[in-house]
Amino acid sequence: MEQDRSSQSRPPHVLVFPLPLQGHINSMIKLAELLAIAGFKLTFLNSHHNHERLVKFNNIAAHSERYPGFQFKTITDGLPLNHPRSGSWFLDMFEDTMELKMKESLREVLVNSSPPVDCIIGDGFLGFALDVAKELGIPIIFFRTSSPCCFWVYHSIPDIIQAGELPINGSEDMDRLITTVPGMETYLRCRDLPTFCRKLDIEDSSMKLVVKQTRKSLQADALILNTAEELDGPILSQIRTKCPRVYAVGPLHAQLNTRLNAKHGESYDHFSNTLWEVDKSCIFWLNKQPNRSVIYVSFGSITSTSREQLVELWYGLLNSKTKFLLVVRPNSVIGKDGEGEDVEMELMEKSKDRGYIVNWAPQEAVLNHPAIGGFFTHNGWNSTLESIVAGVPMICWPQFADQHVNSRVVSEVWKIGLDMKDVCDSKIVEKMVNDVMVDRKEEFAKSASEMAKEDKKEIKMV
Ligand code: UDP
Repeated sequence: MEQDRSSQSRPPHVLVFPLPLQGHINSMIKLAELLAIAGFKLTFLNSHHNHERLVKFNNIAAHSERYPGFQFKTITDGLPLNHPRSGSWFLDMFEDTMELKMKESLREVLVNSSPPVDCIIGDGFLGFALDVAKELGIPIIFFRTSSPCCFWVYHSIPDIIQAGELPINGSEDMDRLITTVPGMETYLRCRDLPTFCRKLDIEDSSMKLVVKQTRKSLQADALILNTAEELDGPILSQIRTKCPRVYAVGPLHAQLNTRLNAKHGESYDHFSNTLWEVDKSCIFWLNKQPNRSVIYVSFGSITSTSREQLVELWYGLLNSKTKFLLVVRPNSVIGKDGEGEDVEMELMEKSKDRGYIVNWAPQEAVLNHPAIGGFFTHNGWNSTLESIVAGVPMICWPQFADQHVNSRVVSEVWKIGLDMKDVCDSKIVEKMVNDVMVDRKEEFAKSASEMAKEDKKEIKMV
């Protein structure tokens, strides 16, 4: 059933549809804002659950005031509102619950949309949006919010298996090079592959799902990636051998900031799109610290740590003598019988003069604060890009998804950080913090600031 999209006296109507996770919402709202600035009519399709949180912690009404053609619509993600949605909930429930319900709701929104939707920009993980778009005759562009290098690895998994480089035998050297991902032959090791590749079972359901969604992304009318040619040129060329219409439109947060600052001035109040309550008190604490003296420690919106890991990290930070700003998200420390909750209070009490702990930080503002000299990160793609643009070197502690590949590229290709993958030991934490913040401070600061400059050149040109 095709809707009438013939009369084009109105601005084109784009529906932006993210996977219901913080990192995906962040970059997709920024893309939606950029399109609204360019004069498009925008519908941002959020899950009921995330929209409730967006409304609670942000000035969402202001979006429509600032961009008259911008509206939010909400649909179910297939789960009850009070479900905790923690850990890998969406991978566990994707095919059984989410996909079916979201597909039905998406179809309903599109059929009833007035004016009709002229183009869908769907999260590349939501492959079912392609089926709905084709059925209704609406053009669709997929947006993969994860890194291009990981997109390329996901795409190559069947070839890696076919070449016999997977599965990884339990007892073998994790530093063995993987040679079947074009463009990455010299640096991608077994340990840099997404964690589901560590399973002996090459029929693993998460692996199959990710490969399926990745290959489906290439069937859309075009593919958008949150990167710049300057950053990911060689990998983008590889992806273009499979899909010629690949557009590098990022880093989106920097693109948006550049446009808004040019139009309204540097002090313009940008929107936040956070699903947690932001604790801005850390900015006042940072204001009192010397330039480049603090390491910011945060592992994104999904990762959890065990109580033991948090204590190792904390001792490493404390012994390094560098001041730190640490984010511990509510319910993100897994301990026995609620032990995780106490550890945060205990650390806070003991690190009063050395560190500052919050539940959720204004991350972009933190990374751009002059007191920050390094970022201890899980290498989620948004965090990685935010750090690159701010010119802040990284210590990488990846946990899952694209993070293992990202940390390898950060440390080995871009040389703007150190990779602490697969280890959580206070002595190593201490050594890496000292390297980045003291002993090799100038070397890392120089490479990170050169990379940020290159990136900014491209932002002006786009
Ligand atoms: N973030 C934030 N405050 C925090 C921690 C994270 O605003 O205390 C934001 C961060 O700026 C980034 C997003 O949450 O834009 C996390 O996305 P990322 O892709 O880095 O990781 P994910 O959460 O998807 O693992």
